[in-house]
Amino acid sequence: MTDPAQKTRGISAFIVDAESPGFDRSRHQVKLGVNASGTVEIFLTDVRVPAANLLGKEGDGFKIAMSTLDGGRIGIAAQAVGIATEAFEAALSYSKARRAFGKPISDFQVIRFYLADMATELDAARLLTRRAAAAKDRVKTEGGRYGFEAAVAKLFAAEMAQRVTTKALQIHGGYGYTKEYPVERNFRDARITEIYEGTSEIHRVIIAREIFRDAGLAIG
Ligand SMILES: Cc1cc2nc3c(=O)[nH]c(=O)nc-3n(C[C@H](O)[C@H](O)[C@H](O)COP(=O)(O)OP(=O)(O)OC[C@H]3O[C@@H](n4cnc5c(N)ncnc54)[C@H](O)[C@@H]3O)c2cc1C
Repeated sequence: MTDPAQKTRGISAFIVDAESPGFDRSRHQVKLGVNASGTVEIFLTDVRVPAANLLGKEGDGFKIAMSTLDGGRIGIAAQAVGIATEAFEAALSYSKARRAFGKPISDFQVIRFYLADMATELDAARLLTRRAAAAKDRVKTEGGRYGFEAAVAKLFAAEMAQRVTTKALQIHGGYGYTKEYPVERNFRDARITEIYEGTSEIHRVIIAREIFRDAGLAIG
């Protein structure tokens, strides 16, 4: 904070040289999923940063962080759609190959209905994600905001990914719980999409705020 009295308007963004004295990283965290991506905490202890490293204008830091999150949320929605797509395709293929009681499990109505629900939710999440990406493009040329579209896409896609990966694992039966098939990884990876770039709880706060904004919200 460059001016604590100004609260969010007193936050400024800086580029910090990772070689600066006082800059430190934790060891890599051992995580439930997304293990191809390293995660460390960073610590800044009395790090001195030259004024030339100011990003944007003084006091614009919160605005910069929030606009970065709006864009990032579309990326996480796309990640959730990607994880769920792999799980759905694996479950569809497994349902045709696995035979039980003399027929492929894809012949059982319950399995077909699981897959129908998964396909429906996946499609909806994909469309919401594309709508948010299109809104971001439109804002670049026409101005305005796309925070609502980004938040709705991220919240729905993240929660959809939990449901779809859970069902995909279930369709695999016991094998779903083993590392022989990709669905246990999809199930673990999906979990993070409800947490980073803002949790699902915070997304509901954001969406509610947009709904109750004075200017009103044109949905559609
Ligand atoms: C693998 C991984 C990678 C990450 N990468 C990054 C990164 O690159 N950059 C970065 O900055 N951060 C990163 N994070 C941090 C991540 O964004 C935060 O963990 C996340 O935003 C949640 O914040 P928190 O952990 O402080 O949870 P908390 O704020 O402590 O929340 C705990 C619980 O309380 C709820 N809660 C908190 N406040 C409210 C409220 N006002 N209303 C209702 N419910 C509330 C939360 O939804 C949650 O359920 C990463 C985290 C992980 C696990």
